[in-house]
Amino acid sequence: MKTLRLRTNSREQTIALGRLIGAGLPPGSVVCLEGDLGAGKTALTVGLAKGLGIRKSVSSPTFTLLIEHEAGERGVPLYHFDVYRLTDSDSFLELGFDEYIGGNGVCVIEWSGQVREALPVECLEIKINFADPSQPDSRELALSWQGNDEWLTKLAADWSKGLTTMNQPDNRKEER
Ligand code: ADP
Ligand code: MG
Repeated sequence: MKTLRLRTNSREQTIALGRLIGAGLPPGSVVCLEGDLGAGKTALTVGLAKGLGIRKSVSSPTFTLLIEHEAGERGVPLYHFDVYRLTDSDSFLELGFDEYIGGNGVCVIEWSGQVREALPVECLEIKINFADPSQPDSRELALSWQGNDEWLTKLAADWSKGLTTMNQPDNRKEER
């Protein structure tokens, strides 16, 4: 299984990456997000929602565990979980959260490791790390997706293409 490592140097770049990921995600995908507090899991999800064509703003479900976003122009709803406060997979199942998986909607789960056993094997796994202590705004994202190496290869190509146009004024405006 391939692991794709990408670097971002600002919150805006992580949102742009999330948008690219969201734009290419098949309906029903499950995205597992790992990374310490402040790594950028919610920022990535903000972009992912944009990529799915969802217009309403995305905030952190830290206290509510789940925020549901109605489908936008692509007809795919987003179920945004933050399961930091769940201690195990059983609590995820007891809350009925597994019913969101396997439908048309995209599920994004922050702190997925807490409930990993309740999730499908074939998830897009994204681990966000602080890349360099001397550069507080840089992050390294490690992506893997069992059975979907080609999808990651395409993402890598699209991302490097996008980076060359990222600094153009029109794009900067769009990401705000
Ligand atoms: P998490 O959901 O992982 O706790 P958030 O997305 O809520 O993280 O917060 C990330 C924080 O880090 C924000 O304050 C954001 O401005 C900051 N930040 C700095 N650099 C980056 C980057 N490259 N990507 C994402 N966020 C970044
Ligand atoms: Mg968060």
